Amino acid sequence: MKAVKFLNTVSKTENISFRAFSVSSQCHADKHFRLLVVGGGAGGCGTASKFASKLGKGKVAVIEPTTTHYYQPMWTLVGGGLKTLEQSGRPMESLLPKEAAWFKEKVQSFQPDENSVTLESGDKLTYDYMVVAVGLQLRYDKIKGLLDAFETPGVCSNYSDKYVLKTAAAIKNFPNGGNALFTFPNTPIKCAGAPQKIMYISEEAFREAGKKANIEFHSSLAVLFGVKKYADALWKIVEQRGININLRHNLIEVKPDSKEAVFEHLDTKELITRPYDMLHVTPPMNTPPALGENKQLANEGGFLDVDKETLRHVKYPNIFGIGDCTSVPTAKTAAAVAGQLGIMRHNLGAVLAGKDPQAKYDGYTSCPLVTGRKTCVLAEFDFQAPPQPLETFPINQAKERVTMYMMKAHVMPQLYWYGLVKGWWEGPAIFRKLFRFGFSK
Ligand SMILES: Cc1cc2nc3c(=O)[nH]c(=O)nc-3n(C[C@H](O)[C@H](O)[C@H](O)COP(=O)(O)OP(=O)(O)OC[C@H]3O[C@@H](n4cnc5c(N)ncnc54)[C@H](O)[C@@H]3O)c2cc1C
Repeated sequence: MKAVKFLNTVSKTENISFRAFSVSSQCHADKHFRLLVVGGGAGGCGTASKFASKLGKGKVAVIEPTTTHYYQPMWTLVGGGLKTLEQSGRPMESLLPKEAAWFKEKVQSFQPDENSVTLESGDKLTYDYMVVAVGLQLRYDKIKGLLDAFETPGVCSNYSDKYVLKTAAAIKNFPNGGNALFTFPNTPIKCAGAPQKIMYISEEAFREAGKKANIEFHSSLAVLFGVKKYADALWKIVEQRGININLRHNLIEVKPDSKEAVFEHLDTKELITRPYDMLHVTPPMNTPPALGENKQLANEGGFLDVDKETLRHVKYPNIFGIGDCTSVPTAKTAAAVAGQLGIMRHNLGAVLAGKDPQAKYDGYTSCPLVTGRKTCVLAEFDFQAPPQPLETFPINQAKERVTMYMMKAHVMPQLYWYGLVKGWWEGPAIFRKLFRFGFSK
């Protein structure tokens, strides 16, 4: 077995024997867990924290390959030069619950009929219950020429710790009169607002530096934003700031030598080539192959096939899902993870106690649409078709506000580190009710 780390703070002797016992590949008994959590991101950490203390030492295991846990929503501000990359990361070990075992590797494959998973090392773990929280993987490789283009200045992406600092550099070094292109791919993505947040931050920075810029947003979508109330507000902002919006444009190739980006119009199939000085790419995304290619667990799109309200798998009653990797038809955000965590507390808690899951997720999700280095539109909505606003504050949230920027930059990170990943923060529903004197969902 690769690296297995136990976070138990028990007596030294106990700890050593537990660790040694568990790494032995002969000892099947110690590789069985009451609850297996796959993925240690927002959803995995939150779920493990919630249940590890309830179930007790050694009953919960987390499988997560990385040592640094990033608060990805901060990368909008890191790319904008408003926070450092270091501020967005913490050691994984400091966030996982002490009572849980940590397997520091990936799940290679799932065997849901046997209640087991196989790790990259080839070892198997078995479980009574499992929560899948493997998120989305970034597919920069799907765009021809992009990986080479990342080696050149001006090409950047807030979606990866590898390329986010290039965004801040591209804004700083942007030439007067240059072209800045921002893209949105042709797949579901995490935080659908992030591709345009960095565009607004960049536009403001160019303007304040006295630089003229031609700014273009090329999106595969047919709308600027999926919720009409906020899309209307954003259309006003792009018109005021002279930003060119190109809908149904999908980035298919980057030519770093000539500094050109090639888009395909998804309806007409026409190819459009645009020169760039700055190119911010939001990559196509899909679920990791261990999940996406597993026909028993995933739907046709590769997402964990769960009931959108109970979060329980549609075929395997001992499997639940949380976060970006599931089929729940809501916008994929950490805010949605928080809302789902409350449902997980009720529903996984119920099945662990031999009862039926009763709680129903309302689709709550949120996207703080940063529109500059001091302003933000706080979009909050559900998963109805079409999605409807589900706002916390009794004010018009479609308006750009400094207070909402302060929340995004200073309050939300604290909620994440001390609330969500620790298993406490279940979203703002309680405040929504309070602000409406109880007359709200
Ligand atoms: C630039 C950017 C801006 C964003 N802005 C916001 C925002 O303003 N507000 C907001 O609410 N959300 C925002 N988000 C989205 C938010 O970060 C995600 O929705 C959230 O992190 C989802 O949590 P998750 O647990 O589903 O996935 P993740 O947090 O991505 O965690 C998935 C974990 O699974 C692990 N994993 C993958 N494959 C395997 C495997 N085979 N075995 C074991 N482990 C595996 C990964 O290493 C990872 O740690 C933003 C994201 C980005 C990138």
